[in-house]
Amino acid sequence: MKLLLHTCCAPCSVYCIDKLREEGIEPTVYWFNPNIHPYTEYRARRDCLKEYTKSINVNAIFEENYGLDEFCEEAVKDLKARCVNYCYPVRLKRTFEYAKENGYDAVSTTLLYSIYQNHEFIKSYMEKLSKEYGIEFVYRDFREGFWEGHNKAKELGLYMQKYCGCIFSEEMRYYNRNPIQTSNNNGYEIPKEPRMQVKKIENKEDYIDLLLEADPSKDMIHKYLNDSDVYALKKEDELISIAVILHIDRKTLELKNIVTKENYRNKGYAKTLLKSLCGNYKQKYDRMLVGTTENNIPFYVKQGFDKYEKTIKNFFIDNYKEEIKDGELTCTDLIYYSKDLKKK
Ligand code: SF4
Repeated sequence: MKLLLHTCCAPCSVYCIDKLREEGIEPTVYWFNPNIHPYTEYRARRDCLKEYTKSINVNAIFEENYGLDEFCEEAVKDLKARCVNYCYPVRLKRTFEYAKENGYDAVSTTLLYSIYQNHEFIKSYMEKLSKEYGIEFVYRDFREGFWEGHNKAKELGLYMQKYCGCIFSEEMRYYNRNPIQTSNNNGYEIPKEPRMQVKKIENKEDYIDLLLEADPSKDMIHKYLNDSDVYALKKEDELISIAVILHIDRKTLELKNIVTKENYRNKGYAKTLLKSLCGNYKQKYDRMLVGTTENNIPFYVKQGFDKYEKTIKNFFIDNYKEEIKDGELTCTDLIYYSKDLKKK
């Protein structure tokens, strides 16, 4: 399938490109994004997309059109309806036109990713254009990956815009800060992620299955679980990661287990949980130990566990019935590092 992906900016493209590639579709990115105010903002979004598409090796076409005059002439006819009367149509029509002129057989858009755009209008408008131009419309509700894409874009350090694009949405960015003003969906800020909380868990046994993913022996887990504190990192009510902390003496703790649910892995949540726990415990305790396998040493050193303590030779062979694997590595020794909780 030769798919042209209308693209408004780099952050919105992250999840859409990943998703299409996962499905075996290699999109061509098509930048056509008039009436972004001011010009420096237009340029910042365009240049970031140029860099990003280059970095992930995706074919990208940039069609320049700042389009301020046309936008002003059209938008002023009905300011409140400017998105559906002018802004979406001008982008989407041009995308289908370009696709037709250049032999593409399918079209989609990153506008379907934003939780702030009029999704239903965009979908039905593209269905209409698809019939008109005889080109397939590849519909995906990219909104389901909004936070995944948002977090990845942040991690990549992509330029994150603070409003939709036109001068009116830029104005609403400031109005929205004022609780007296009614909010307007057409002007937005990058939303806040659902609130993350760290909570102490009492019903520890309910979490055994998840703990087993980091420490595959129930017997071993039971050796430390009852005497430890268990904490959960949650997003709203959804469990993300848990950590088990054992009190060794008046000044020392040991991190016995930390694990993140599979669908949340590699997104920095374990780091977030650990940082929060170290921050809280440093009021009363001086250091935290962690015993780990060779593979995980770099992760812990990055989190401040930078002092080597000791190695327990053949720990995994002597204490586990079955061979323990960590990726390619067969675990043998348990290596201890510590973090100075008071260190700034
Ligand atoms: S608010 Fe966004 S979609 Fe609506 S006209 Fe402005 S830039 Fe276009």
